[in-house]
Amino acid sequence: MKTIIQSQNAKLICRIALLIPVRRSFDYLLPDDLTVHTNLVGCRVIVPFGKQTKIGVMTDIDVNSEIAPSKLKPIQELVDHTPLFNKTDMQLLSWVASYYHHPIGDVLNAALPGLLRKNRAASLPRQTVLRLTTQGMSISLDTFKHATRQAVLMTALKNSPQHQLSTLELSKQKITWQQPATSLINKGLVERIQCDINVSSQQRSVAAPLHLTHAQRIAVDAVSEQLSGFEVFLLDGVTGSGKTEVYMQLIQHVLRQGKQALVLLPEIALTPQLEQRFLSRFKEKIAVYHSGLTEKARFQNWLEFRNGIASILLGTRSASFIPMSKPGLIIIDEEHDPSFKQQEGFRFSARNVAIRRAQLLDIPIVLGSATPSIETFHNATRNRYRHLKLPARTGNIDLPEIQLLDIRNQTIHAGLSNPLIKLIETTLNNHQQIIIFINRRGYAPALTCHQCGWVARCSRCETNTVVHHGQQRLLCHHCGAVNLLPKHCPACHSTDLVSLGIGTERVEKFLQQQFPDYNTARFDRDNIPNKATLDTMLEAVKSRQIDILIGTQMLAKGHHFPGVTVVAVLDTDQGLFSSDFRASERLAQLIIQVAGRAGREQKGRVVLQTRQPDHPLLAMLIKQDYPKFAQQALQERFSAKLPPASHHALFRVRATTQELPNAVLQMIRNELETYTDEILILGPVPSPMEKKAGQYRYQLLVQASQRKPLHNCLDKIIPFIENLKLAKRVRWSVDVDPIDLF
Ligand code: ADP
Ligand code: ZN
Ligand code: ZN
Repeated sequence: MKTIIQSQNAKLICRIALLIPVRRSFDYLLPDDLTVHTNLVGCRVIVPFGKQTKIGVMTDIDVNSEIAPSKLKPIQELVDHTPLFNKTDMQLLSWVASYYHHPIGDVLNAALPGLLRKNRAASLPRQTVLRLTTQGMSISLDTFKHATRQAVLMTALKNSPQHQLSTLELSKQKITWQQPATSLINKGLVERIQCDINVSSQQRSVAAPLHLTHAQRIAVDAVSEQLSGFEVFLLDGVTGSGKTEVYMQLIQHVLRQGKQALVLLPEIALTPQLEQRFLSRFKEKIAVYHSGLTEKARFQNWLEFRNGIASILLGTRSASFIPMSKPGLIIIDEEHDPSFKQQEGFRFSARNVAIRRAQLLDIPIVLGSATPSIETFHNATRNRYRHLKLPARTGNIDLPEIQLLDIRNQTIHAGLSNPLIKLIETTLNNHQQIIIFINRRGYAPALTCHQCGWVARCSRCETNTVVHHGQQRLLCHHCGAVNLLPKHCPACHSTDLVSLGIGTERVEKFLQQQFPDYNTARFDRDNIPNKATLDTMLEAVKSRQIDILIGTQMLAKGHHFPGVTVVAVLDTDQGLFSSDFRASERLAQLIIQVAGRAGREQKGRVVLQTRQPDHPLLAMLIKQDYPKFAQQALQERFSAKLPPASHHALFRVRATTQELPNAVLQMIRNELETYTDEILILGPVPSPMEKKAGQYRYQLLVQASQRKPLHNCLDKIIPFIENLKLAKRVRWSVDVDPIDLF
C-alpha cells in the first residue's frame, strides 16, 4: 500500500517530467518565492538529480506526495516565466505518453526543438529596426537633395511595407544606414526600435484565390461552417483535383478570424513546393519545421508559431506538437502516408496525435489524400469523419490511363521490356518527360559468383548486400554496413562476379546508353542526400533539362511535374506477394500516387510491367477505382479481424544472443495470459528479418477487438517488464498501432 504523506506547513509540491526516458515523474518542493507565479505548469525547471542537475517540465502542482516532504528537494531554477506549453498542450502530451505507453520525458523531447531541451531562454532574438516617424512620412524627398545617403535611406523606408526596415535587411540591400540614420533620428524623422525578428521587410505580392469548382466549393463551405468546433473531415480528392486550393481557402478563412493553421506533410521534400504556393497566396508569416533545418531555425520557427508571430506552420511529424497561440485549423496532407508514423524510439502517429489535438483544442481537422488509409476510410464510412469528395481533376485533363504491360516471355534489359523501351523512345521524340519508378536504390540487389554460386551477404544481418556501382561498394540497406566491391570471389577467387536484379542505378546506366542524346536524373537517397540537391534537381526537371526521371518512393509523392506524360513502374509484382496484410493497400496507394505524377497538363499514360496481368488487385487498380479497392480491403480486414476491425500492440525485443529475446517475450506472454481473455496473443516469433545489425530480433503481437482491454493490459505489463531481470539484458519496445510488423 502506498501511503500519502501530507506535506507539512502546506508546502507545495511540484511534479516534474525530466527530459529523460523514464516512465515516471519526480516530486520536488516548490520554493516559496516561486509560489507567487500563477502559471508554472508547462514551464521548464532545473532540478537537482543525484549528484547532477537535470532539466524538466513541470506537469502538476500538488499538496501531497508519496514521498515524505523532508526527503524532497526544492527545485533549483525556473527557466521559463511563462509556460512553454499551456494546459491543453500538457493535456495532449500526457495523453500521448499514456496512449503510446511511452515515457513522458521522451514525448516532451519530441515536442521541443533541440535548443529548448537545454536551458536556453525561450525568447526570439531581437533586431534593430529603423522606422519613419509621422513627421518623416510627410516630408518630401527633395529635402535631401544634397544628402544622397540620407535620401537613399529615406526612399528605402518610404517604399517598405510598414515604413520600416531592419538594419539587417538594409545591410543586405547594401544601403549605408549608420551615419544617415543618426542624422535622421536627430531630425526626428526616423526612430530606432527593437523588434522580434519577424518584422517583414519585404512586401510580398500575393495572388487572388482561384474560382472554386463545384466540388471544391462544397468542401470549403463544409469546413468553414464548422470552424468553431471539433470535427474530422476527410478530403478525398483524386490527384490534381485541387486539394491544395481547398486547404488555402480554408486557411484564408482561419486567418481572417485572426487564428492560426497547422499543416502537416509526410516528407521534408514536399515542404518547399507547398511553402512556395502558400507564399504566393498569403501575406502572413509562414514558418516551416522539419529535421532538415538548423537547430537555430527550428528554435525560431517553433517560437514564432507558438507566439503567434507566424500564422501558418508547415511541418513534418514532430510539428504536430508545436503549441499554437490562436489555434484555428489543422490540415494533414497525404494522410495515408506511412511516414506520419515514427518507426523508431517514440513510435507515434502524427496523424492520430493531430486528431486528438484538434479534439482537445475544439477545432476542425482536415485529412487530405487521393488514397486514404483503410483506417481513415473506415472512419469516413461509419460517419465518424465527414467525407468530402473531389472526384475529378481540375481543368479539362482526365486522369491518366493505367495499362498493364504483360512481360511474361519478354526479353528484359535492365528491368525494361522492349515495348516499354519503344514507348520511352516515342515519348522522348515528342519532347515529353518520363518517370521510371523502381523501388530499389543501388545497381543490383545481389552479387553472386558465376563459378561457385557464392552470394555477398551482410555479416551482421540476414540479408544480401546491394551493389552500388557508382561508389564501388557493397552496402547493406538494413544496417548501413559498407564493404568494397570485391574484384574476386572470396570463396573461389574467380573474377566472374555477376550482379543480379535491378536497382535505380542500373536502370539509369542502361537508359543513358540507350538514349545518349537525352538527359537522365536519378531520384534516390544516394543521389539526393539533402533538400538542396533535391531543389536543384526539381528545378532542372521543371526547366526541361531532364528528360527521364528514374527514382524510388521519392518520386511518388506529391510532386508536380507538368511535362511528364508517361510513368512506368518496373517492379509492380513485388507488392503482390508480401506477407504483410497492409501490402495491397501500400501497392494501391503507390500506383495511384505515381500515376498521379503523369499528365498534369496533358493527357498521360501509366504503364505497369507485370507477370500477373490477371491479378484481381491490378485489374481494380487500372480502373483507378480506389474507393472500390478500399471498400474491398476493408471487408477483407473485417473478415480476418485485422485493423481497423481490431487493435494491435507489438512488442519487439532484440539482443545479441538468439535465446534471450524469445525467453523475455515468452515471460511477457505468460504474464499477459493471466490478465484477461479479451486479448489474443500471437507469438513470440522471430521478426521477418531475424538478425539485423548483429542483433537477434523477436516479436509478440497482442490483438484485441476493443482498445480498452488492450490498453489496460499494456498498463499492467509495462511495469512487469521493467521489473523483469532478464529484460535488463535485452532492448525492448512496445509499438501501439504498429503499421508494419517488422
Ligand atoms: P492536388 O493537391 O489535389 O493534387 P492541386 O491543388 O495541386 O491538386 O491542383 C492541381 C492543379 O489544379 C494546380 O495547378 C492548381 O493550381 C489547379 N487548380 C486547383 N483548383 C483550381 C480551380 N478551382 N480552378 C482552376 N485551377 C485549379
Ligand atoms: Zn566463387
Ligand atoms: Zn547489415
